[in-house]
Amino acid sequence: MLKGKTALVTGSTSGIGLGIAQALARQGANIVLNGFGDVDAARSQVLAAGEAAAARVAYHGADMCRVADIEDLMKYSVSQFGRVDILVNNAGIQHVANVEDFPVERWDAVIAVNLTSAFHTCRVALPAMQSANWGRIINVASVHGLVGSAQKSAYVAAKHGIVGLTKVIALENATTGVTCNAICPGWVLTPLVQKQVDAKAAEHGLSDEDAKKLLLREKEPSMQFSTPEELGELVLFFCSPAANNVRGAAWNMDGGWAAQ
Ligand code: NAD
Repeated sequence: MLKGKTALVTGSTSGIGLGIAQALARQGANIVLNGFGDVDAARSQVLAAGEAAAARVAYHGADMCRVADIEDLMKYSVSQFGRVDILVNNAGIQHVANVEDFPVERWDAVIAVNLTSAFHTCRVALPAMQSANWGRIINVASVHGLVGSAQKSAYVAAKHGIVGLTKVIALENATTGVTCNAICPGWVLTPLVQKQVDAKAAEHGLSDEDAKKLLLREKEPSMQFSTPEELGELVLFFCSPAANNVRGAAWNMDGGWAAQ
């Protein structure tokens, strides 16, 4: 379905981004990976997912806090595969503290990675998408782009911000073949969330399993984590012809969290 297309997925060495990169590779898209940590493991998982479809995989280690790195990432992607047709803004970090205790540098980092980086990737990716009259921008927001939670000021501000940015980019390109949408997951059991599970277990003296149940019970009526694989399938829908006129949506996959 996506043979001949190139997808850049930021923060794709782990968790949701890795799941999305695998789903896109399975459909034949060439993939540019980005992120920190175990790059080789991520690369082989995405290569394996895309093997039958002969998808190619490249990697760039841009720090999404740095504008020069982001511009270099886009140049590198074009040099590897000719262009970027699908841009998934997924890189994200979290910090949990009340506003009065929130370290200023953590605020700046969360806003830079979770929001400002997407402005820069879109800014540099859009001209080529507009010339080709085809492009898909998918911003990985969060249910926290729709509702708030205590102790997550920077994250909630960044995620509400990226939902707003999504709408504006969708409107600016509404008469073209370039669409922009956001996805809004509830809990997904990735390293980012495992840290919060560990904090709950330590705070309440709970087992890992009971801490997960507590986390889910507080917010997610389905009592189930979504998976990177399910989110990958949602991204494939946005890339499909059926989604040609889905523009500026903030699509939740949150087990009923935002329905309450
Ligand atoms: P994760 O920690 O597993 O993955 C985050 C990825 O971002 C990693 O590849 C990491 O290396 C990369 N990254 C972090 N800082 C970076 C930087 N400065 N430059 C480049 N890459 C950087 O987390 P995840 O849960 O998979 O989160 C992915 C996205 O999904 C985030 O935007 C997050 O806010 C969002 N999200 C997660 C959940 C959840 O429950 N896990 C829910 C809603 C939204």
